[in-house]
Amino acid sequence: MPAKIAINGYGTIGKRVADAVALQDDMTVVGVAKTKPNFEAKLALQKGYPLYASDRESLAKFQKAGVRAQGTLEDMIKEADLVVDCTPEESGYKPLYEKAGVRAIWQGGEEHSLTNLSFNAAANYTDCLGAHFVRVPSCNTTGLIRTLFPLDAHFGVEKVLAVMVRRAADPGDSKRGPINAIEPELEMPSHHGPDVQSVLPKLNIHTVAVKVSSTLMHLHALSVDLKKAADPAQVLDTWRRFPRITFVAGSEGVKSTAQVMELARDLSRNRADLYEIAVWQDGVHVVDGTHLYYFQAVHQESDVVPENVDAIRAMLELEREGRRSMERTDRSLRIGIA
Ligand code: NAD
Repeated sequence: MPAKIAINGYGTIGKRVADAVALQDDMTVVGVAKTKPNFEAKLALQKGYPLYASDRESLAKFQKAGVRAQGTLEDMIKEADLVVDCTPEESGYKPLYEKAGVRAIWQGGEEHSLTNLSFNAAANYTDCLGAHFVRVPSCNTTGLIRTLFPLDAHFGVEKVLAVMVRRAADPGDSKRGPINAIEPELEMPSHHGPDVQSVLPKLNIHTVAVKVSSTLMHLHALSVDLKKAADPAQVLDTWRRFPRITFVAGSEGVKSTAQVMELARDLSRNRADLYEIAVWQDGVHVVDGTHLYYFQAVHQESDVVPENVDAIRAMLELEREGRRSMERTDRSLRIGIA
């Protein structure tokens, strides 16, 4: 019997997680819950997902709009082994999940303290085996962990400074800015450094962030002091042995996030998503043997999606080995297949 998965919040992340779950042979979507009967709700029905309203008030709106909902969130979680909560930060559903005795995954908008367990498939899959509540950290944090964990495992990391150039909003979100400005995050470190440490507690990392008027991707510029000397070829070889990192080249015309997303569109995957972190291979430089510099781009809408699928497998113990779960997830999403 496939594991029964419900998705609460069907926006940018929720709709992608639902589609990714639907592709797995060991889990199935038993429902998606939404607040509003908008176009996304109608599309969820067209895709065959059982649709639920988040509460009685929104159920009345669904009925008024003629959009067929099967009940409320409370009804949906009764059907589920696990809920993936993809609602905006601090929506506050933990007491409801606790009362229903259902396992839950939250996204990176929440604090680590909500679950005290933050997940990255390559870094700590086994820590989450059988866990009741887990958080998948944000897109930026996931992006940083994807390339820093292999570096720490192979060369040792003395110190990291990551400068994050953050997209202002997702492509479908016309409410947020800045439109014509660059906005520094004045908190130091930005929340991303401590967030990386929620998965890699010993990593000495400092982060600064600025928001720019782009919607496509985040871009990270990293300076990493390694414990063991390495050259760029050795660094690239190490990353190649880890999942969900892909390589692009300025010399082949990939000069910016615009071309990274053009390449993603050309891969013809679902929604043109790029689940991998894209590292510029000709932007990897080592100075004096141990000072490594590189750039990477993060598709904020999708890099956390495979992590959610693996977190489900770990929590429900559908697969005890992280690498095997990642292989299954990646095959289904066509990660690593050109
Ligand atoms: P979103 O706004 O695109 O979608 C949120 C969904 O939840 C919508 O369907 C909305 O109708 C619904 N919703 C809103 N309020 C609700 C409530 N009170 N109860 C139930 N449902 C409600 O948000 P998103 O970008 O998908 O973000 C969801 C989570 O994922 C957040 O924690 C966010 O920080 C995290 N995240 C977002 C991104 C990104 O780039 N968008 C990347 C990684 C992680």
